Parts: sequence; C-alpha cells; structure tokens
Amino acid sequence: MSVQETDGQERIRHILRTGVRNHSLSHAYIFNGPRGSGKRDMALWLAQAVYCVRGHGDACGECPECRKVIHGNHPDFHWIEPDGASVKIEQIRELQKEFAYRSSQARKKIYVIQQADRMTIQASNSLLKFLEEPIADVMAILLTENGQALLPTIKSRSQWLSFVPENPDAMEAALIAEGVPAMLARTAVRLAAGLPAARELARAEWFAEARTTMVQLAKETLTRFPAAMLTVQQKLAKGEMAERLDTILDLWLLLLRDMIQLQCGRREQMVFADQVDWMADKAFSRGAHEWVHAMEQVTDVQKRLRSHANSQLAVEKLIMDMQGG
Ligand SMILES: [Zn+2]
Repeated sequence: MSVQETDGQERIRHILRTGVRNHSLSHAYIFNGPRGSGKRDMALWLAQAVYCVRGHGDACGECPECRKVIHGNHPDFHWIEPDGASVKIEQIRELQKEFAYRSSQARKKIYVIQQADRMTIQASNSLLKFLEEPIADVMAILLTENGQALLPTIKSRSQWLSFVPENPDAMEAALIAEGVPAMLARTAVRLAAGLPAARELARAEWFAEARTTMVQLAKETLTRFPAAMLTVQQKLAKGEMAERLDTILDLWLLLLRDMIQLQCGRREQMVFADQVDWMADKAFSRGAHEWVHAMEQVTDVQKRLRSHANSQLAVEKLIMDMQGG
C-alpha cells in the first residue's frame, strides 16, 4: 500500500481491477463517500483501466486511450454533472440518445453521474429504466456524498462501494514528503477527506494567509478585543480573505479544539503546534465546556453565512460573544 491510498481505497481498487481483468464488472456502481475521499479519481482510473491498451486491468495513464479519458474527450466515456442545482432528465435523455446512436460499436460505454443524489425525480426514474434494460455493454458510475438519498430501486441495481476519509497522519506524511511545510500539511489534512483535496489546499497561495489571519484574529479576540474588530474590518470585510471566510472559520474550530487538547495535556495532537506559547497561556483561562460553547458559536456563524447573512456583522458578533482578556 502506498501512503497515498488507504486500505479502503486499495480494497475498492482491487475489486474493480478484478472486474476489469475477468470482464465481470457490474452494470452500475455507487461510489459513496465524503467530499475529497477519492471517488472522482477512482472513476477516472476505472474508465482508463477499462480502455487502456496496455494496462491488463490497470491504467497506464499514458496511452492514447488513457489520455482521452483524462482529457475528457474519449468518445465512449461520458461525465454528467448537475446542471445548476440538479441533474435533470434532459441530461439523462441526452445520454441515452448518445448511447443508442453508438450502440452498433462493440466497445464498452461508461458514464459517470457526479452528485447523483441531486438527480430530479424524473431524472432518477429515467435513469432507472436505463439500468433495468442495460443496452449491450454500458456501465454507470454514480458518485455521491449521500447515497442513502438515491432511489431504493437504483440502489438495489447497483454495487455499493464505500469511500472512507483517508487517515490524516498518512496524508500529512505524504504532503511533507512532497515538500509542503509541516505546519501547513497538518492543517490542510484536517480540512480535507482525501490527499488530492488536502494537497490542493496546502498548495493554494491563499491558504497560508488564511491560517495567519485566523491565528491573528483568534489571538486578538482572546486578548485585545478592539484589535480584533479592526482586523475584521481590514482583512475580512472584503478582498480575498473575505471569500475564504468559511475556511477561516473551519480553521478557528481547529484552534478551539486545540485549546481542549492543551487542557488535556495532548500537545502532540495539536494542529497549531507553532502557536503553543500563547495558546498554552490561554487554554486554562476557560473551562472545557466554554471552549466547546465557542466552537458551537463558530459553527452557528457558518450556518448563518450559508443562508447569506451579512458576513462582517456575523463575525463581529462572534468576536463580541467570544472576547476575553
Ligand atoms: Zn493506458
């Protein structure tokens, strides 16, 4: 097993590889798991493995067939994403037409539906008919974070594969080996369920700044309240960090959790180990239940922002509620 792949994903890849080699792939798969747990990469890998001219059950990633899958221009491979908020019946019909048109060719056809739980009822029913009468050699891969929301009849006709979040310690080690600074690696893996997502975050130009901004804001909130209000106005009211507010609040949750870790004497578990000097000083200024309450307040602000509350006001109120020092 490589450090990049968990036992769970290795097991899934083994099942699918065996299916490719033995020509015993199912007509439909449901890849169920949280965002960032590798469903998309696995779907791309499976399509490559099916078409690869030299893979023998694996994807070489280099032959013309593999490259066409990667670049999204393979004629027998179709990728469907929600059109706006949902996957619509027209998209499923389009796909059926496309396949009917090409059904004279002997090659296997594969389609992926991303966020399959967001199919409309009509789209689901249309897909169901398609699954019930599998034309020649067609394979469906349904990607979802919420597979339970799919129609039971779709579930019963598909093979269910569960993707689990990758182990954070393994991801951290992999990122550090790739040259990501340790402090950013540890932070990123706590915000992503899989290595590709964690890597993208750790390498994003804004990520280090978001972390620094949050540390400043959290520290000022606990020590110098007026300075915290100023930081909100200067850094979070507009501009790049304003767009990253959700991540900044996620980071704040991690820092509050670290306060509890500190109280419990578990320094090695801390995400913000580089901030331990001032945090150790503050950790015992409140009871554990107060830190938990602060976390609830942050989560509450996140919820309100998702329903389009005024972000500056929401954060200012948060700071007022949480202030100290
Ligand atoms: Zn290949």
